[in-house]
Amino acid sequence: MYTVMGNIHIHSTYSDGAGTIEKIAQAAAKRGLDFIIITDHHTLAHLPEEGYRHGVLVLCGSEINVDKHHYLALNITEEIPADDENPQAVIEAVNSQGGLGFIAHPFEKGSPLVLNGIVFPWLDWQVQGFTGIEVWNWCSQFRDGVQNLWQAFYYAYINPEAPITGPCSEAFARFDAITQTQKITAIAGSDAHDWHIRRGPLFRRIFPYEYLFGTANNCLLLAEPLAQDTATAKAQIYEALKLGRVYFVNRLAAEADGFSFTVTDGHNTACLGDTFVFNDRTKLKLACPGKEAHRLQVKIKRNGQTWYETAACEWEKKLEQAGTYRVEIRLNNKPWLYTNPIYVVDSI
Ligand SMILES: [Zn+2]
Ligand SMILES: [Zn+2]
Repeated sequence: MYTVMGNIHIHSTYSDGAGTIEKIAQAAAKRGLDFIIITDHHTLAHLPEEGYRHGVLVLCGSEINVDKHHYLALNITEEIPADDENPQAVIEAVNSQGGLGFIAHPFEKGSPLVLNGIVFPWLDWQVQGFTGIEVWNWCSQFRDGVQNLWQAFYYAYINPEAPITGPCSEAFARFDAITQTQKITAIAGSDAHDWHIRRGPLFRRIFPYEYLFGTANNCLLLAEPLAQDTATAKAQIYEALKLGRVYFVNRLAAEADGFSFTVTDGHNTACLGDTFVFNDRTKLKLACPGKEAHRLQVKIKRNGQTWYETAACEWEKKLEQAGTYRVEIRLNNKPWLYTNPIYVVDSI
């Protein structure tokens, strides 16, 4: 397997972001990303800009809906109108174009200091057919953490990491409930805008692209190296997202070079997103090479519940039963690495 890293959920000058796609790609290249996915609000005018720039694969999708039910629509070619009241119609419109879609920042809390506390939540959980959920939205979580002026100052000027607690627990709980019966994919999004805030003589850039590209990013597992031609590379990225071959890592805590989480019986091996049929030789294997064990807090989640905890950086453990297994790791007491599940079943 080959791992590529990229950032998803980015706004450019095609909607309310401050950077051109050229500038955003430059920032991604500086941070060593392999791909970025631009998701401007209600436009596909940027589609002709797809392709490699500065060695970074730039893909373009759209964020659909206005007051609620924000939906990241990828791999579409025709604009889809907002329909806040009927998110199922939006999901189906994306699917009818062969697209992928992710429910964005579903459980925002809002801040009284930002847009009068306005939030853009996902309310309708009867929907079907979406590809996955953005369980961690960096900017949304930052904003949720700013509840007064003192916090705003402290976070903006001294410690922008302070409000960052890891993926949204409600979103992950929803993800765990859904993955009991069907496969969907969890991703992290930056919601990068590179906001330029002016208050009289004061000017502050909040979360420039380059900063966010060094925070939570998605690592995708590919069967082949990422292709050099755009069409093939695009198909590889969207295939991995669709199959759940994804983990996401907070690069402010550490890089995740060499990380792996598999299920194996010594004969067959399953990676993230795969289904594996349980037998009495089935075991989980995890490796975080180069990480000091005492700084790790590894939790293996089975069907959404913590099943096993360890501080070891390389280990394997025999499985007693089938279940949906995923990994959460904190490093130096910071949120660090989160995988999609491997689905261990009794039979297919
Ligand atoms: Zn949004
Ligand atoms: Zn957004």
